[in-house]
Amino acid sequence: MKTVYGPVSSWRLGKSLGVDLICSKEKICSFNCKYCQLGNKGIKTKKRKEFIQIKQIKTDISKALKLTNPDVITFSGTGETTLASNLYSAVNTIRKLIDLPIAILTNSSMMNIDDVGNTLEKFDIVVAKLDASNQKIFEKINQPVNNILLDDIVDGIKKFKKNFSGKLSIQIMFTDDNIAIVDDLVKILENINPDEVQINTPLRSCPVKPLTKDQINFIEAKFNFVGLNTISVYKSYKPRTKTLDKMEVFFRRKTDS
Ligand code: SF4
Repeated sequence: MKTVYGPVSSWRLGKSLGVDLICSKEKICSFNCKYCQLGNKGIKTKKRKEFIQIKQIKTDISKALKLTNPDVITFSGTGETTLASNLYSAVNTIRKLIDLPIAILTNSSMMNIDDVGNTLEKFDIVVAKLDASNQKIFEKINQPVNNILLDDIVDGIKKFKKNFSGKLSIQIMFTDDNIAIVDDLVKILENINPDEVQINTPLRSCPVKPLTKDQINFIEAKFNFVGLNTISVYKSYKPRTKTLDKMEVFFRRKTDS
């Protein structure tokens, strides 16, 4: 399995070359979200460790950048990227290789840990997940490893926003499980004041039914009403891409584009 995949056509980020610091055949994550495209099996943990050596990432990305021309480099893949203890070295290594924006998708569960927050500040774009406004719904949707509190996650995101000079996007996956709490989520996000709110619903293959376009438009209007900037999965532009290796993409996204 290579550490670099894509570029994929991302509705949030454009032509995105993925970097996977986990590279595991089974998902390794602090959550087990009901809608996870990687399936509902895998290792649930909040223990940080090194999964991939930096020299491997350097080799793979150098090769990929000779063959393709992405808009952005995005850390994501087969689990929660902030579990990789060499995340700081990885972002610094890639920064030296290419002058492109570097983004990361995170489930936000580790953002209240100083070392993780400080490392995330090295990115240009941080896309942080927040699907719930209370512990009960958080546990129902995201099924976190024991002892992760939603309040700590929200505090971690707020603290991070204060120090971060890049773009902070909050991604929310809307389903039947959280549509009723949209007003509470709007209040929390007003307080965080991110640069962007990404309104998503599971359109890729998974056991959870997506919301309709009308439902997503209704939700988006609520965020816009309080002045929050949004993008939504149904409306966003997806650039055409030519992936280097379809299997590497399929392995992470269950689609080859
Ligand atoms: S945080 Fe992401 S990788 Fe982890 S279970 Fe949820 S959707 Fe899957």
